[in-house]
Amino acid sequence: MENGIVEIIGETEGNTSIILAGVHGNEVSGIKAFEQIIPTITIARGRVIFALGNLKAIKQNVRFTEANLNRLFKDNPSDVEKESYEYRRAQELKNYLDQSGALLDIHASNTPNSKPFIICENNADQIVQYLPTETIVHGFDQLEPGGTDYYMNKKGKIGIALECGYINDPKSVDVAVKNIVSFLSAAGHTDDAAKKSNHSYIQMERIYLSKTNKFILERPFDDFEIINKEQKIGLDGKEQIIAEEESVILFARNRDKIGEECFLMGRYNS
Ligand SMILES: [Zn+2]
Repeated sequence: MENGIVEIIGETEGNTSIILAGVHGNEVSGIKAFEQIIPTITIARGRVIFALGNLKAIKQNVRFTEANLNRLFKDNPSDVEKESYEYRRAQELKNYLDQSGALLDIHASNTPNSKPFIICENNADQIVQYLPTETIVHGFDQLEPGGTDYYMNKKGKIGIALECGYINDPKSVDVAVKNIVSFLSAAGHTDDAAKKSNHSYIQMERIYLSKTNKFILERPFDDFEIINKEQKIGLDGKEQIIAEEESVILFARNRDKIGEECFLMGRYNS
């Protein structure tokens, strides 16, 4: 993989798609899935780019080295971010994203037992309806702009991120492999018949940022746990933070700095 990139060209003409792994360097599930798929896959149509994201962080098995690569695809990175290795890598990756019509970016979670889900917006429906991951979450472009999927969506293309489960769970590699295979079929690159899957949709609506340097959760919350109206979520300094309405909670964690992401709230779309 020269500079972390492998391109496979099909026998006949067609779209170009890109699959990313290791945008966070310690999320190895997607990287292991690449090792299984790249040597064996047959691409019938178009061109598929397999790209490793944060090469330096992958080598060190860390999330990132100087800046979170998956926030550097936004319009206005800070001067500090622009000095980072990750910013330079984002510019290299943009070359490949710009050549592609659809993206699948594979992530994994540091939380044991976390379940797989897909992050995308409505424009991805033509592809995600075929992906074998039940939970589909919309709204991240608004709440957490600057990821690879955000970048694709902003250009009128299709950006999909997959959270494939816990980084140390071997099943997360299987989840990544199955979703890659389905993505390639849905995007028209292989001759496998694409099969539709059942999905539930969640719209993320709010992000809570710490107002003090001491945000402590009432208790640990599972991702997508249902929170009742007025349920206690945590203490921000001395302020009790409660749910304004019945919601699902995501990425809840304690924080010791002001302005950090403590949790996201959303709701199931019926
Ligand atoms: Zn990640």
